[in-house]
Amino acid sequence: MVEGVYIPASHDGVVYRPGAVERHHGDLVWPGRLVVEGSWPYASPESCRDTSPGGIWIGPTGSEVLVCAGCGLDGT
Ligand SMILES: [Zn+2]
Repeated sequence: MVEGVYIPASHDGVVYRPGAVERHHGDLVWPGRLVVEGSWPYASPESCRDTSPGGIWIGPTGSEVLVCAGCGLDGT
């Protein structure tokens, strides 16, 4: 395990899209943060313009993973 790199937890029904994410809203993303597969309003964190606060919780019981409502980027 590399120090400082985020390792997403594994949850039933939560599938991460392969590929490193570099920026979200123009800000650098913590290494290892990934997008959860889904039909999000924005195709990628790089193009995300969602500004709603808080994001949304998803997962087997609906409270395991916090993602951006615009692009699905894991921000747990
Ligand atoms: Zn986003």
